[in-house]
Amino acid sequence: MPLSFSDLHLQKPLLTALTAAGYEKPTPVQLESIPAALDNHDLMVSAQTGSGKTAAFLLPTLQKLIKRSEKPGKGPRALVLTPTRELAQQVEKNAQIYGKNMPWLRSVTLVGGTSFGQQIRALSRPIDLIVATPGRLMDHMRQGRIDFSRLEVLILDEADRMLDMGFIDDIETIVAATPAERQTLLFSATWDGMVGKLAQKLTNQPQKIDIAREEEQGKIDEQLLYCDDIRHKNRLLDYLLRDTSIDQAVIFTATKAMSEQLADRLYENGFSANCLHGDMPQGWRNRTLMDLRKGRIKILVATDVAARGIDVPSITHVINYDLPKQAEDYVHRIGRTGRAGRTGLAITFAEVNEYVKVHKIERYLNRKLSEQTIEGMEPTRKRAAKPAGKSRRSFSNNGQNHSRNGNWNNGQRRSNGNHGQKRSNPHSQSNHSRRNTARSASSPSK
Ligand code: AMP
Repeated sequence: MPLSFSDLHLQKPLLTALTAAGYEKPTPVQLESIPAALDNHDLMVSAQTGSGKTAAFLLPTLQKLIKRSEKPGKGPRALVLTPTRELAQQVEKNAQIYGKNMPWLRSVTLVGGTSFGQQIRALSRPIDLIVATPGRLMDHMRQGRIDFSRLEVLILDEADRMLDMGFIDDIETIVAATPAERQTLLFSATWDGMVGKLAQKLTNQPQKIDIAREEEQGKIDEQLLYCDDIRHKNRLLDYLLRDTSIDQAVIFTATKAMSEQLADRLYENGFSANCLHGDMPQGWRNRTLMDLRKGRIKILVATDVAARGIDVPSITHVINYDLPKQAEDYVHRIGRTGRAGRTGLAITFAEVNEYVKVHKIERYLNRKLSEQTIEGMEPTRKRAAKPAGKSRRSFSNNGQNHSRNGNWNNGQRRSNGNHGQKRSNPHSQSNHSRRNTARSASSPSK
């Protein structure tokens, strides 16, 4: 008999909220983390995005907040630090969902790119939960707006990523301002290097929870497609995007400029596509994400940082148009699909001369990516070397069409709506403000 949320000793207000959210049973990371956190242990959890890690740290934290604080003051009782604005907003949204039967609960997201006024107003009254990116939190701390004397729980979500982004000094300053007797819950994809050292410093006899990657990624079918050059890559992309099983797709590019360029090209080719990158003002980023969530955008072309925290269950496909710079970004990228128990397909393009980079990703994953070709669109250039044991499957050779949800239909170019029909973009300039105000809202949803 699988364990339920009530077996984890969560209280009624949370249990009814979980039922309302449609959560039937805890995920592995929740099963392990919630009881340990409710027992007041510090935690070091390695779990990937898509595993249900947000609820794993929010539920025990919210349970603590059900009881009134005995300490006077108006400072936060719980603090979640995240690497990106989008992730912070997502975490606070989840806190509101799980805390919907706790009407007294007051939470705020403190992130850059949004006005200070609303944040200052929220901080002027007693606050229970702050979800923040380190930079904006530090801005408020410098102005003396945050008193951590009531803080009971400190959570670092995607700690490895925060360090990659250079937040180490900010994190150390923030932690130094919190009470030593706090509970510390750390979540990170890895504990190698600096993040492991930081974890040792911040935690007190932590329980270590390691959720196997395979367990979480079993729902995502991963495929690797080699191409000769960018023109070949674009042909493959156009072919794949005609797959009628695509509900929504996220395409990752290496640069902001490429994300704009590709979104423009796809739009001109008839797809409801838009881009998301870190140079876009926060309001537009939020609006683009809202369009994606509401299904007004079918294809989002994004850079790594901007796409963190995207949690849209209807994303069936992730396409790595460019390879990620860091191997661990691969895991975060593909985690945009296969969410909330669904299946997904992650397709990675690599130019034949990028073989070494692919190898690096495979070493990080400790497994080979399944290499595929599309009939009539195979790469013609040779790559330097091929290690022993590489499986090379061709759809045409084995005659298999994948039947799992989220795969493409081999051999049949189906057109969906006006996909593939060239249309001119009335808002074709690369200016993302125009794109955001005019294109995503007015373009047909496909
Ligand atoms: P996360 O890894 O926290 O980003 O969560 C991934 C997705 O799974 C989110 O859409 C959550 O709302 C959803 N989720 C988390 N826990 C559960 C659960 N126990 N049952 C169903 N969905 C869940």
